[in-house]
Amino acid sequence: MVKTYAYGFPKLGKQREFKRLIEGFWAQKVTEEELREGIKELGQKREETYRKYVDAFPQGEMTLYDPMLDTALLFGVYKANSLEEYFELCRGKNALEMTKWFNTNYHYLVPDFEGREPAFKVCEPVWNRHEGATENVHIIAPFTFLKLSKGLPEGSFEGALKELTKALVDYVNSKGFKSVHLEDPALVMELSEEEWKALVEAYSLLSEVKGEVNLFTYYDSVDRLELLFELPVNGIGVDLVHDRGENLEQLKKIDPRGKKLFAGVVDGRNVWRNDLFKTAEVLRELSEKFDVVITNAAPLFHLPVSLEGATLPKELLQKVAFAEEKLKEIKLLAEILEGKEEEAREWVKGINNKFGEIKAVRERVSALKEEDFVRKPSYKERVKKQQEVLNLPLFPTTTIGSFPQTEEVRRVRLLYRKGKLDKESYETFIRGEIAKAIQIQEELGLDIFVHGEFERTDMVEFFAEKMKGIATTGNGWVISYGTRCYRPPIIYGDVERDGVMTVPEIAFAQSLTDKPVKGMLTGPVTIIAWSFVREDIPISEVAYQIALALKDEIRDYEEAGIKIVQIDEPAIREKAPIKKRNWKEYFDWAIKSFRLCHSSVKPETQIHTHMCYSEFGEIMEYILEMDFDVISIEASRSKGDIIEAFEKVNFDRQIGLGVWDIHSPYVPSAEEMKEIVERALRVIPKENFWINPDCGLKTRRWEEVIPALRNLVKLAGELRKET
Ligand code: GLN
Ligand code: ZN
Repeated sequence: MVKTYAYGFPKLGKQREFKRLIEGFWAQKVTEEELREGIKELGQKREETYRKYVDAFPQGEMTLYDPMLDTALLFGVYKANSLEEYFELCRGKNALEMTKWFNTNYHYLVPDFEGREPAFKVCEPVWNRHEGATENVHIIAPFTFLKLSKGLPEGSFEGALKELTKALVDYVNSKGFKSVHLEDPALVMELSEEEWKALVEAYSLLSEVKGEVNLFTYYDSVDRLELLFELPVNGIGVDLVHDRGENLEQLKKIDPRGKKLFAGVVDGRNVWRNDLFKTAEVLRELSEKFDVVITNAAPLFHLPVSLEGATLPKELLQKVAFAEEKLKEIKLLAEILEGKEEEAREWVKGINNKFGEIKAVRERVSALKEEDFVRKPSYKERVKKQQEVLNLPLFPTTTIGSFPQTEEVRRVRLLYRKGKLDKESYETFIRGEIAKAIQIQEELGLDIFVHGEFERTDMVEFFAEKMKGIATTGNGWVISYGTRCYRPPIIYGDVERDGVMTVPEIAFAQSLTDKPVKGMLTGPVTIIAWSFVREDIPISEVAYQIALALKDEIRDYEEAGIKIVQIDEPAIREKAPIKKRNWKEYFDWAIKSFRLCHSSVKPETQIHTHMCYSEFGEIMEYILEMDFDVISIEASRSKGDIIEAFEKVNFDRQIGLGVWDIHSPYVPSAEEMKEIVERALRVIPKENFWINPDCGLKTRRWEEVIPALRNLVKLAGELRKET
């Protein structure tokens, strides 16, 4: 009989119970006892769901915030003596840095070894996720833990890896766990010979574990898969969905050495239903050689909990599966292999449903020529025309787009969405907010204004609702970090604007002032990165379709007298494939889609982009090819490190580095903001430098925003005087 297994099921709960419990605790509305009890219950519900469909699953997956932090606490890298201290590490003043988990939109807490010995000692953490667990305990494997940490002293990786593996062995043996589920996704990165060597050496210690050890990899192929089959472990988990066929190819040549193969064949990252009968063929073939366990490819927490209550059109509903339905697919695959096909046939009936096709859009994309991706004239020429129109001072000041989304803004927007407020009253309210924001910017004396984004719940969902071919899910929440959730839309058909998307608000804002107001758009790569994307046409085509819709919007901006357009692309780095050898292919369509948005604007229209903080050094050459006029980058948290990335390239565009870290309520003085500027000006000519805060002002209060921006404008004034 074929065995089934699943892991990484969302912890959120169907009603977002997780969020309510944890945030309730933060707000002191939920006691510690209630929290622990509630999380335990939620964990049990989760296990019941697993049990309904699969033979086995990991125990102790429930975290109160992030599994990397839990691992750090378990092995004594950090200490927390109370839940308050635990959450302090997640979101307090000295919280761990957060960064994107591989090429996903999940953010993890980054353990930092700076100033600490990489020594490990098993601890009894305040939040013990393994309490009551006996088998299959879920732990992030030592390699991944260290690879994703930072601040390890030079040359200490190998030693640390051994130490940590030893600590892990002690832990598992002392607790008497019957088996462990080790997650090691970092093994899909492009690793050096030394790293592979260190891995094999350190993991040889796993032979001392008394119980069973299963090692899971996912998100891509493992370059040296054969090495994993030589390790003293009992099973290897591989991703057979996102591996470009590379894992499967290797498996054909690999000697199983008596190991189980956890064949990840059900996609944990996208919502499309599995082509079960095709997959069953692959499983049959693998079963000839391997002891196969059917499982998911990538943890399921990238998906909404369940389709129950999803507000999707019927044809689409028949094509998709959320986390719970993915469990069902694992079960159906096992049934097919056992000769029970009926339910599986029913399940895949609609997977090839065709709908949402727009012929004109297809034709427009296939008619695109190379020159459609090229803006003319060159930057050097158009910048002069832009300056004639805009007449900007040195060190122009602006913000990144959003302004505080007050209780009231959120309340009124929700009323409208629920149909309890009519369109006209809602629009009047939004206009009122825009007018206030313009007035405030006028008083502050900023140079380039924004309308404030009050009408937007989320920078992707907002556009998804305005485009044909994209469905929003209503209740399809996914955690992006901690308790923070978002609802990725589903791009299922050809994409086109359903009328203007943002022009009325921007044009209204512009009508209130003589200062230029920026048109504000979310770029194609970010819309794709934060959605579930169709797989029946190449992703490049999806990107170009979105780009054309944005292009139309930009043309309408120009007609409405808008002189500056900002196309936000915060996800461009995150969406890059894990293996650099696949970057070229990705950046090719990513950059072209951005260029397509703006390639036919007037020379005097100034194109801005914005990116959130990430490892820029490596992608600088690609960024330059996007051919924008001005870029703003969230930078203050990087303490100006980002500036180094600009030293290495010939960066000839205008740039604004966030001088105010908006993640804290602290209002910085002009002097404090000046530090970043001074460092930057050693590398970037002052003629090219803009002054702006970081992104995300929507999360702050006006009481913080106004004084901070006042200081920012003051800083610009002083800088101008100094030159
Ligand atoms: N325009 C958006 C804002 O200012 C950009 C958000 C982002 O960078 N993620 O909030
Ligand atoms: Zn940003």
